Amino acid sequence: MFDALDRWLRLSAERIHEQASGLTVLDQAIGDGDHGINMDRGFGAILVQLGAGAPDADGDVARAGTALKAAGRTLISTVGGAAGPLYGTAFMRAGTALVGADPSVVPGELLLTAFEASIGGIAGLGKARVGEKTMLDALVPAMDAGRKVLDAGSDPAAITRAMADAAEEGAIATIPLLATKGRASYLGERSVGHQDPGATSAAILLRALADAVAAA
Ligand code: ADP
Ligand code: MG
Repeated sequence: MFDALDRWLRLSAERIHEQASGLTVLDQAIGDGDHGINMDRGFGAILVQLGAGAPDADGDVARAGTALKAAGRTLISTVGGAAGPLYGTAFMRAGTALVGADPSVVPGELLLTAFEASIGGIAGLGKARVGEKTMLDALVPAMDAGRKVLDAGSDPAAITRAMADAAEEGAIATIPLLATKGRASYLGERSVGHQDPGATSAAILLRALADAVAAA
């Protein structure tokens, strides 16, 4: 699991870097235009951290959890804005869930447990719900899709592919929504007709996850 996590974080950093200007353009429309820059800075710092070597932990799943917690702390201290604390908390919660998990549980269940913990962290901190034009509009459909595919008995590659597909659909489905949380809510009706930057970065991260898992 640690190897897959390492692959995912590196691929995420690469994709966020490539798409940073696109995320910034989205944030210029309904925010302050810093989302791409913020995320690129944060994932660049994660890359530096990965270069320093794997964390010491007893077992592969716990090592992955420890690395995720460290990545979360890095996101909190480097990304800034609303997304930094939200993504940082999500990564830390996912890491804590993995450190405390029974490592003999099937990988798909470990993944969903960590993902559900991370969404709980975002919802708790941001006090947003689905339909308010935030990253949750990509993440919650991804969680539901992943759980459904896991319950049908499929493997992590199929689970993460379904999650990425649902997140991309969810990000596009934010276009007609009215923002009622975060900076975009200051625009009121003028937020309608634009895709949410945070939902878009969430979909990028989940597509990278699916590709990292498929590459195993
Ligand atoms: P800021 O808005 O402070 O400049 P960013 O531009 O980095 O921060 O991130 C904006 C994104 O953060 C939004 O597109 C949205 O998806 C997400 N966001 C903002 N507020 C919340 C919230 N309360 N709950 C969940 N996500 C939120
Ligand atoms: Mg912004």
